[in-house]
Amino acid sequence: MTVWVLGDQLTREHGPVAERPDEPVLLIEAHAFAERLPYHPQKLTLVFSAMRHFRDELRDAGRDVHYHQVETFGDGLDAHFDDTPADDLRMMCPAGGDADRLRSLVEERGGSLEIVENSLFCCSRKLFDDWAADRTGDNYRHEDFYRHIRRETGYLMDDDEPVGGEWNYDEDNRETPPDDWTPPGPPTFERDEITRDVDSWVADRFDGSYDEAPYGGSWADPEAFRWPVTRQQALSALEDFCTDRLATFGSYQDAMQRDSWAMSHSLLSSSLNLGLLDPREVIERAIDTFERGDAPLNSVEGFVRQVLGWREFMRHVYRRERDELGAANQLNATEPLPDFFWTGETDMACLADVIEGVRRRGYSHHIERLMVLSNFGTTFGIEPRALNRWFHAAYVDAFHWVTTPNVVGMGTFASDVLSTKPYAATSNYVDRMSDYCGDCRYYKTKTTGENACPLNALYWDFLGRNEDQIRSNHRMGLVYSHWDDKDEEERDAISDRAAAIRQAARDGDL
Ligand code: FAD
Repeated sequence: MTVWVLGDQLTREHGPVAERPDEPVLLIEAHAFAERLPYHPQKLTLVFSAMRHFRDELRDAGRDVHYHQVETFGDGLDAHFDDTPADDLRMMCPAGGDADRLRSLVEERGGSLEIVENSLFCCSRKLFDDWAADRTGDNYRHEDFYRHIRRETGYLMDDDEPVGGEWNYDEDNRETPPDDWTPPGPPTFERDEITRDVDSWVADRFDGSYDEAPYGGSWADPEAFRWPVTRQQALSALEDFCTDRLATFGSYQDAMQRDSWAMSHSLLSSSLNLGLLDPREVIERAIDTFERGDAPLNSVEGFVRQVLGWREFMRHVYRRERDELGAANQLNATEPLPDFFWTGETDMACLADVIEGVRRRGYSHHIERLMVLSNFGTTFGIEPRALNRWFHAAYVDAFHWVTTPNVVGMGTFASDVLSTKPYAATSNYVDRMSDYCGDCRYYKTKTTGENACPLNALYWDFLGRNEDQIRSNHRMGLVYSHWDDKDEEERDAISDRAAAIRQAARDGDL
């Protein structure tokens, strides 16, 4: 019997690795997999380096590790079954919930594969499915799930009531920091020998795979690599966040600043998604900070809602609705992805800064993903699969189970399976929550005319184009009343401006 560990299950604390301490462990580095998309080099370095560090940690702890560096899982399994014919493998369920392909690969080679619950999440399959079976209506609602999982886990609960009396403190969490606010910088984890080796190998091996992306093969400055690749580093990142930034996480969670790419965000998504951190320990450390009086409730509840609520919710909605989400395009958006998503070359200050950050680090924070990138994608009408593919390739924390529901469901409203309305906004939102608009070439107050901020005409044009689909949504009533106030001439000017913006984006001139 051998424990098979996937590259995003790098934990010794849980699952079959912990439960079967005497059994050997199988890890397969499948390289062809990494050529399927023009992945950010830092994403590839992160995953392969974390796997190699995990291998070494296991070996240092006396475990027998079979580590195969091959093209495909099939090749790795061939090597494994050559050494250990008819072996029985045991693994945690892949995060996306589907193990059929892996089971077939194993069975075709004469072995067996036992799948156990993925204990790197707080909410079990059964807990979610029971909740989903009880809900009314066709769609999944996060707020309802969140209250359910708070009650089930007891996190931030006083008996059956939420600590502080409210389930959420969003109203306190929409501030922008004062001009003189400088958040403590997040930690950087220097590249050690393993990471540097992986880095140069990634640069050699995957250079050719970037051809389709018009950015000439170099997204990232390797020196800028800063992500935890070991559990010890991830724990230190958690500690750093709770000590330095959690207290202001809540208030500034929606704010964007040109000079502060991290703001007070935790930067823990890559560590959580690789299994270096357990969501329960992350939540408990945050609650502990609150209980010791070192962070206010609005921050800690806001953070717990992201990890315990949104992260778990997205994973299970994906598991259950993968096929629908993968193909969804309810607003019939057909525009190709503008090249500047790869190059960062646009005069729109918000997009240029966020994309440049993604190019440098494979990261931007939630509001940048939602209200800058997805908002533009939604109102511009980018085909959801194309945008999803870009997010998947570009971010260090991207995995299908988390990127797809966020981009297709929440970000672009291509499916209403988990969102009640599109997150579409004019420059008003970006201006209120950021310092981007001040010296942008485009005028935030103008909707039409050559230098008007593209977000404005795109927003109104989006409402006009999709009226049949979304006007009836009761949460859109107010914005449609403003659309109704616009006369024919104004609507035509908006439509002309939106067409000119699309053309400029196609011409590389936005
Ligand atoms: P923080 O702001 O500090 O939040 C704490 C943690 O909460 C995160 O580390 C993450 O684990 C979890 N979290 C928060 N929001 C979500 C959410 N909506 N879904 C799932 N987990 C959440 N997250 C990913 O991990 N991978 C992705 O590929 C990804 N793609 C996204 C694409 C779009 C269009 C949007 C709108 C969101 C996406 N998210 C994704 C969710 C969220 O933006 C990131 O988890 C977060 O920005 C990561 O940064 P952080 O660790 O500093 O998060």
